[in-house]
Amino acid sequence: MDPIPLVHASLGEQELAAVAEVFASGWPAGQGPKGKALEAQLVARYGVGDAVAMCNAGAALHVALLALGVKPGDEVIVADYGFPAPAHAVRYLDAVPVCADVRADTGTIDPQAVADLITPRTVGVIAVDTVGIPADYVELQAIADRHGLFVIEDAACAVGAKYQGREAGALTEVGVLSFHGRKGASSGEGGALLAADPKIGADARLRSSFGIGSIFDMGKVVGLPIPEFTQIGYNYKLSDIAAAILQVQLGRIDELLARRDAVATRYAELLADEELLTVPYVPQDRTHAWQTYMVTLDASVDRAAVATELRGKGIGCGHGTFAAHIQPVFESKHKCPVSADLHQRHLAIPMHAELSTNQVERVVDALRSAVRTHSVPTRTLGGAA
Ligand SMILES: *Cc1c(COP(=O)(O)O)cnc(C)c1O
Repeated sequence: MDPIPLVHASLGEQELAAVAEVFASGWPAGQGPKGKALEAQLVARYGVGDAVAMCNAGAALHVALLALGVKPGDEVIVADYGFPAPAHAVRYLDAVPVCADVRADTGTIDPQAVADLITPRTVGVIAVDTVGIPADYVELQAIADRHGLFVIEDAACAVGAKYQGREAGALTEVGVLSFHGRKGASSGEGGALLAADPKIGADARLRSSFGIGSIFDMGKVVGLPIPEFTQIGYNYKLSDIAAAILQVQLGRIDELLARRDAVATRYAELLADEELLTVPYVPQDRTHAWQTYMVTLDASVDRAAVATELRGKGIGCGHGTFAAHIQPVFESKHKCPVSADLHQRHLAIPMHAELSTNQVERVVDALRSAVRTHSVPTRTLGGAA
């Protein structure tokens, strides 16, 4: 039977045609006509003060922290569960990532855990929309406002998700999006920073292009004003080739997300009665972008054995995502037990916009059979080890 991949980027003829236009234009580098058009499209879609196209979300997080004035030794509270790019970004600045535990039902940062971790050295919080579901921004913003902290929304996985009717990515003063090949809208690699305050956006844009303005624009000015470098910047620009692909992808996001949503709905219906696993919980006030579909296995299930069985049948699967505090590079003194537990028990099963009904049913049948085969009855205390 045909293999069913865990992920698949929906890129096709329309994206190819957009790339051909860039080739013909003669400007494939960043901050050219396509990059500017993409930024305008992002500003319109998100209703933000500014949008900066960048090479990836990790770079956008780095520049966001610089633009918000984070200094070495500052503490930044980061969501423990999710791809640990926020903790990396904090460390780029020699600041201290402080891992906050997450809600057991959604996997998103627990506002109470954030409140409990605030010290005089805390300057901000990076919340993560874990695998596509927005965090609790009303509660987080209230805590941040009480303590004068910034909140960054890492919406890397959440393009198209909504929270209380608002777009994920634009739920706090600064948000970042990823357009990596495993996210819902993709240019292979890519990202963006969204800022409510245009000054933060302008600062981020400058830092993402070696501290100097658009080289494309310089070619068009009258006369020959010589620009000067006044600060150290990075080369975090998005190429116009990638920007052209993203213009198409953003136009398709509602259609692509509707298809992912239909897959999620079908999984939830078919797996609702399976006692050895739990399907994802989505609170009433938000929607999920379904970057990954993770079921939570019962503690009695041998996850590795289930994964081996699924892969043996050609069905892609994975461990889900990461708990930052247990990674050797971030090892922290305090624990995040909920995050550590989800990291043990989550299993990612195929999720993308091109899964057929038949494939979804095959995944469900194989998963149901695997969890039942590999469930070890819980040993009683004092029993044989
Ligand atoms: C994928 C991901 C990133 C990194 O995105 P890149 O564009 O690959 O740098 C950051 N944060 C989270 C939560 C992610 O899932």
